[in-house]
Amino acid sequence: MFEQLSAAPADPILGLTEAFKKDTRTGKINLGVGIYKDEAGTTPILSCVKKAEEQLLSQETTKSYLSIEGTPEYGLGVQRLLFGSDSDIISAGRARSAHAPGGTGALRVCAEFIARHLPSKRIWVSNPTWANHGNVFKAAGLEVVTYDYYDAEAKDKDFAAMKNSLQQVAAGDTVLFHGCCHNPTGIDPTAEEWEELARLSAAGGWLPLFDFAYQGFGKGIEEDAAGLRIFAEHNPELLIASSFSKNFGLYNERVGGFTLVARDATQADNAFSQVKSIIRANYSNPPFHGGGIVTTVLNNASLYAEWEKEVAEMRDRIQGMRDLFVDTLKEKGVSQDFSFISRQCGMFSFSGLNPDQVKRLKDEFAIYIVGSGRISVAGMTRNNMDALCSAIAQVL
Ligand code: PLP
Repeated sequence: MFEQLSAAPADPILGLTEAFKKDTRTGKINLGVGIYKDEAGTTPILSCVKKAEEQLLSQETTKSYLSIEGTPEYGLGVQRLLFGSDSDIISAGRARSAHAPGGTGALRVCAEFIARHLPSKRIWVSNPTWANHGNVFKAAGLEVVTYDYYDAEAKDKDFAAMKNSLQQVAAGDTVLFHGCCHNPTGIDPTAEEWEELARLSAAGGWLPLFDFAYQGFGKGIEEDAAGLRIFAEHNPELLIASSFSKNFGLYNERVGGFTLVARDATQADNAFSQVKSIIRANYSNPPFHGGGIVTTVLNNASLYAEWEKEVAEMRDRIQGMRDLFVDTLKEKGVSQDFSFISRQCGMFSFSGLNPDQVKRLKDEFAIYIVGSGRISVAGMTRNNMDALCSAIAQVL
């Protein structure tokens, strides 16, 4: 049966990590995968997470199954982060959430829900977008089309082109937005632009799907939800895929959230019952541990304050690296303007490095960057900055 199969191509980002691990050169630098690194180049366990785990371990009495959607406390915690603690959407019962395995799992649940239950099977994603979006949506049978987002020449968002291409969206189509810290460009709509998009969406009858994988990495935990909350004011129906991989550092625990918002509680319950049957036929019910950590932190004032502080530290370190990168390139005599890197936010930026330069960085300097030129700023440290910028200066 299997002899007719040929090897599938390696995932462009995870494949790069595999190659990085195998590289024996000293001083190698990985700016490929989106994993937070501290100044020492390690991916730490947050202190609030360790404390929550200790509580969980000392208090747990069973390993019995969770329900299909996970615990109600987790669902409520996800919704409060999305809409704010005193949101009318929550009090009116218009939102329903399920603990999904990671943001990817939540996106796949969204995709299955659209494919099975909504009249239009078309989803619009930004060009460019996270490399896995197309895989996830196509795997569920959706048609994936793109809307303009980025002006490579200006190294900035092209809002006019974005609006222009979104005019092609038909009523009922789903449109995916990055909640904040757009991956891969690091450029988000402004509050005014979110407002305009939200109005266009409501008028056009689009179903907005927010992929929210970096809450807290842009301006702050509450601030980063601004775009979603503006959309929720104008659009009675929404889908949201949350991820706690980055902002809780829970990458390998697979903690995400599927949330739907409906016009009223009855419609929310009906739609969510369909989501539950999708989950039952997929992974049946979620793992407990990661969701338990998130719930414990969100429901304990002192752990929550510690989490906010730790997220701010990660955000500030990345911003510091952005500024240092721009300054160090200048010091190395690079005349090209890289100041756009400082203006962008989150883990990623499009560096503008071309595939040849990316290849030379890997072959000659053991510096790993995705072929598109996307760099994970979170992989930069004070220690590797000099070598990184010298190498870039040589390949430019
Ligand atoms: N969405 C975006 C935009 C991402 O960048 C990522 C991870 O890199 C995800 C979703 C998936 O997150 P998770 O690791 O929780 O599946």
